[in-house]
Amino acid sequence: MQPLIDTFGRVHKDLRISVTDRCNFRCQYCMPEEGMVWLDRSEILTFDEIYRIANILVERFGLESIRLTGGEPTLRRELHVLVSRLASLGVELSMTTNGATLERHAVDLFEAGLTRINISLDTLDRQKFVELTRRDQLQQVIEGIDAAKQAGFDPVKVNVMLMKGINDTEIIDFLEFGRTSDVVIRFIEFMPLDAGEEWSQDRVVAASEIMDQVTEHYRSESLERGSSPAERFRFEPKSDVSSDLGENAQWGEFGIIASVSEPFCESCDRIRLTSDGQLRNCLFALEHLDLRALLRGGGTDEQLAKAIVEEVEAKRSGHNIGQVYFIRPSKSMSQVGG
Ligand code: SF4
Repeated sequence: MQPLIDTFGRVHKDLRISVTDRCNFRCQYCMPEEGMVWLDRSEILTFDEIYRIANILVERFGLESIRLTGGEPTLRRELHVLVSRLASLGVELSMTTNGATLERHAVDLFEAGLTRINISLDTLDRQKFVELTRRDQLQQVIEGIDAAKQAGFDPVKVNVMLMKGINDTEIIDFLEFGRTSDVVIRFIEFMPLDAGEEWSQDRVVAASEIMDQVTEHYRSESLERGSSPAERFRFEPKSDVSSDLGENAQWGEFGIIASVSEPFCESCDRIRLTSDGQLRNCLFALEHLDLRALLRGGGTDEQLAKAIVEEVEAKRSGHNIGQVYFIRPSKSMSQVGG
């Protein structure tokens, strides 16, 4: 077994797999109201093809974890079947979902071998939820979070993409939501991957601004990070605040994924597989390896492995956001798979 190392010495052990480009939400920062031009089913990798690529990465390169994404992964039929096949590879299996259909799927996915789950939720306000996602489904997402906890996922994480002037006023509400309902909040900085190309630096809520709000209300301590993209903290209300909260003064946990203001590319261990079989060595990659063509062209495992090594060796040092030479990738978040 040889590790999958790029020219900066980063060892790649985590694969993000987008299992569909389709989504049941129309988040403003992700896709237009009418949706995207969806890929035809014949263009999407089959479960056999996904399993074969994952198996090569596990067997030959010691892949340790896989995260399933989309679009919205639960829209892929029989997803639990794919989960149980990937779980048989012995890797840690997680998923990012918008949670709207989780009440139906949580138990099947947990029993099939999914071990970790992140639910994207950018506001706790119903009206704002409708404006942001163009769907009136906040209640379904909240019920999805409960269903995930009931099913046995622990911890359940809630991903909150913060945008200035939209939901940066809800940071404390989310921390209280997380602390009192025993879920871990992950604040994510807004990245230039929106289909509408409306991203700008001044819409980013930087990690330092989040911490300013946290320290105003809470005592917080850093937690070990590892190769996780999130900087992690535990927090509790300050003594002068806890009196108001009474018995509810227990500790909570949150994290910040500061891709823009505090990039963590130097410790990146991730590669991505899009739903149509492109291998991308970075979320902001400008090129990709067409693994589907190799697969459907009769490529051997040897040839696939060799192509994967070359693609990882071609990885740039980082995303260069904020640099004059930064180039936006042609694919948006829902097409790359987060
Ligand atoms: S931007 Fe690219 S290199 Fe940086 S952490 Fe993300 S995937 Fe890794």
